[in-house]
Amino acid sequence: MVVPLHGGAPYIGRSPGLGDDLGFVPVDQHTLQSRARPNVFAIGDATALPASKAGSVAHFEGEVLVNNIRRYLADAPLDASFDGHTSCFIETGFGKALLIDFNYDTEPLHGRYPGPVGLPLLRESRLNHFGKRAFQWLYWNSLLSGRDLPGIGSAMPWRGKTRQSV
Ligand SMILES: Cc1cc2nc3c(=O)[nH]c(=O)nc-3n(C[C@H](O)[C@H](O)[C@H](O)COP(=O)(O)OP(=O)(O)OC[C@H]3O[C@@H](n4cnc5c(N)ncnc54)[C@H](O)[C@@H]3O)c2cc1C
Repeated sequence: MVVPLHGGAPYIGRSPGLGDDLGFVPVDQHTLQSRARPNVFAIGDATALPASKAGSVAHFEGEVLVNNIRRYLADAPLDASFDGHTSCFIETGFGKALLIDFNYDTEPLHGRYPGPVGLPLLRESRLNHFGKRAFQWLYWNSLLSGRDLPGIGSAMPWRGKTRQSV
């Protein structure tokens, strides 16, 4: 697999000190506050965080970001709870897919995803492929309209996981 060099948006470079050499925005990895300007917060692909550049990361970061903008404006201590939570379906072909769930400190674990169906983690299955297909509906009809996914929040869930890899 070849991944070309990635970079941030060109306008980041026009704000001295805001971005790193590649144009990504260095932020505190738990509060998402810019290291250069306290009144700037960043999420998603724009950040220089050691997290995946993935839709789930941007989504989970969003909860902490909104909370912290409110707190910053109210002069309250910031919420330092973002843990790098990432969830990804990976299509593996032949009607199967993997589902992985991890954060800054924990590699993907085996077990079951703590949703209503209990999709298998770190294991190819047809159920995960259907889960990925169903997620398209969920994305457009539930996530985009701002509804929470029950039991799945910005912090990586531990329920249903086995800590020892098999
Ligand atoms: C081919 C591909 C496949 C992917 N597949 C997956 C996947 O299966 N699962 C997954 O989790 N993630 C996937 N990703 C990653 C995911 O799409 C990104 O991580 C996610 O979209 C990042 O969200 P974001 O809001 O940070 O950035 P973006 O989604 O890039 O949003 C940034 C927005 O800012 C706008 N913008 C830029 N400059 C300006 C400006 N000057 N003024 C105003 N607006 C501006 C852009 O038009 C854009 O709409 C994939 C990415 C790619 C490219």
